[in-house]
Amino acid sequence: MSNLPEPGLTAADAELVAGILARQRRSLAKAITLIESTRHDHQARAQALLEKLMPYSGQTGQCDKCIRVGISGVPGVGKSTFIEALGMHLVEQGRRVAVLAVDPSSSLSGGAILGDKTRMERLSQREDAYIRPTPTGGSLGGVAEKTREAMLLCEAAGFEVIIVETVGVGQSETSVAGMTDVFVLMQLPNVGDDLQAIKKGIVELADLVLFNKADLDPQGAENAALQMGSALHLLRPNSPHWQPRVLKVSATQEQGIAVFWQAIEEYCKTMRDTGEFSAKRRRQALAWMWTLIESGLHGRFRKHPSVRRELPALATAVEAGELPPALAAERLLDCFKEQNLEPLAE
Ligand code: GDP
Repeated sequence: MSNLPEPGLTAADAELVAGILARQRRSLAKAITLIESTRHDHQARAQALLEKLMPYSGQTGQCDKCIRVGISGVPGVGKSTFIEALGMHLVEQGRRVAVLAVDPSSSLSGGAILGDKTRMERLSQREDAYIRPTPTGGSLGGVAEKTREAMLLCEAAGFEVIIVETVGVGQSETSVAGMTDVFVLMQLPNVGDDLQAIKKGIVELADLVLFNKADLDPQGAENAALQMGSALHLLRPNSPHWQPRVLKVSATQEQGIAVFWQAIEEYCKTMRDTGEFSAKRRRQALAWMWTLIESGLHGRFRKHPSVRRELPALATAVEAGELPPALAAERLLDCFKEQNLEPLAE
């Protein structure tokens, strides 16, 4: 039971909850810092906070109001520029916008592709926008998990549009598509780029494909958009109710921003009308729980004393071709079962 958060909150954390619900950015920032901490006691406090705030997050209470948008693209495609232009467009319409990031480079190389530049200066000065630098350290799974939790806090703090940005490295796109309502792929209008994205299977995740920098080569952007449109028709859409769209924009010229947002709203309306919107969120929450269970089990398995004792010899035997991998795996799983699990009656 020691891993479970204490019921109730400390006075300081209760104040954080009240601060977040009162839309105070300082409280939100403090709570996200708590979530990003790897300290065990901080984690327990963070989970208790989240539990209190869940009813105010997009998972339940505000499901109809807030929109989670994932935006992915290679470094240099223009994500920051576009998100800033979009964010300004939205705050001018009276919306509150939060921008979060999943940056796999922070876990792979210790660097930060998304976090190391001064980003979105105009937007960051707006009271109704909140831009959180990417969490660093830990595995991609860890970074993504923290972003997902930060997203719930932002929703509880009254942010209605949550933009989660990522770069095309590793599994980050799949993680972001798995935590957002609508997933947008940003591309440059050159064919090599398209092929890369198609090969990597990212286009399949996209509900919308955006060709940015259309101002540089309008004809090139038009051709790329047509080609992508035909490629998308060959793929099975993610939803029977939505055929992925292709749009051309220019982030620096602020062209195509309103049309883009209209497409996002249309997507959300279609999904809401068919009940898919909330069904997808429910599915995502359950999938997230299972991901956490799997990674938790994996960690416990590796730390288990009998497993640690038996593993080296069994691994050597598998490498030498003396033992079938399946048999070695079964013996190790049996070791794990010995002290941990009561076998279930079948
Ligand atoms: P990110 O790495 O994807 O976040 O890309 P940035 O937003 O930092 O943009 C990379 C570079 O492309 C910057 O120099 C931008 O000014 C430029 N850029 C972004 N969008 C456009 C656009 O629509 N047209 C043109 N011509 N340049 C752009």
